[in-house]
Amino acid sequence: MPPPSKKIQSRSLGQNKLAQLNINLPPLPNTTVGSFPKSSELVEMRYKVSQGVVVASELERKEKIAIDACIRDQLRLGLDVLTDGEMNRSDLVGFFAKKIDGFEPGGTVRSYGNRYYKKPVIKKKLSWTGPMTVETWQFAQRATHKPLKAIVTGPYTLMDWTFNEYYNSREAACEDLVAIIKKEVHALADAGAKIIQIDEPALSSRPQEFSLVADALNEITSGLKSYFILHFCYGDISTLWARIRTLPVDNFSIEATNSNFEILPLIKKFPTPKDFSIGVVDSHSHIVESPRKLNTTLRQILKIIPAQQLWLSPDCGLKTRTMEEAQSKIKVMVKSGEKKRAAILPSRK
Ligand SMILES: [Zn+2]
Repeated sequence: MPPPSKKIQSRSLGQNKLAQLNINLPPLPNTTVGSFPKSSELVEMRYKVSQGVVVASELERKEKIAIDACIRDQLRLGLDVLTDGEMNRSDLVGFFAKKIDGFEPGGTVRSYGNRYYKKPVIKKKLSWTGPMTVETWQFAQRATHKPLKAIVTGPYTLMDWTFNEYYNSREAACEDLVAIIKKEVHALADAGAKIIQIDEPALSSRPQEFSLVADALNEITSGLKSYFILHFCYGDISTLWARIRTLPVDNFSIEATNSNFEILPLIKKFPTPKDFSIGVVDSHSHIVESPRKLNTTLRQILKIIPAQQLWLSPDCGLKTRTMEEAQSKIKVMVKSGEKKRAAILPSRK
């Protein structure tokens, strides 16, 4: 692989694909993984709906107001590829389990640190009963001229993070979830979503099952022209990276700050011409990174990843941060990225 040059003229594979989709992004595009902090009013209202005290339509109305506000915030902060902030999602598994026929709510289990979630249970054959995310994506995309990523949780994580009381094997459960998420992704693409992110935080939880993830992504992305981002976090991918890089997606969204940039030597050893959304601020820390730290981080990353393949992102979703922390982290990321942009890349006409 040639060393990254100071002035970059050629386009990456990903930039070519985005150009075909009529998406023009500046060099070093800024994005987020998806979720933003929710107001206490929204959290309380979701609880009240679960208790039957408030009607669901009132919550949906408030969620739309929150999505609108979140998009305005992202525009103000200077992000290039936006999300709906996941304002209508409780968590990345529960949201889908509620909409997929065959799941039932289960007991509360611990996930990350002191966070808890209700682990759904597969009680019967799983099936797709219609689009789960399309209407919200359309609503959010209408609010901005900038591209807004559609985000779905991948089938492997949906299988791994739920209990199975119906299928004979994990493979069988995964197979039906692949069919379901494939329908969802096709529905999103049909609705006009050009950038689709698949979240597979469980990707490395059982390396011996990696072929399930690979088969799932082959099936889901096959025949679609969309630009696919694969997000993963939590866990050791050192033995898997050489295989992960061959997955049929255009951009790998990787938690990096929180794992001390262990991914960089792996990328150096097993490079790929595909794009990366590298986590340059830690979503799990209250501390807001300094511009100086970001500058060092970017320099370190750009030694390994050619600039035309690099997007900047927080490590993971920002929903566990306060609004102030989330915005400050994005601000420092955007500012540092813009500085680098000006220094190393010519403006493309
Ligand atoms: Zn994540």
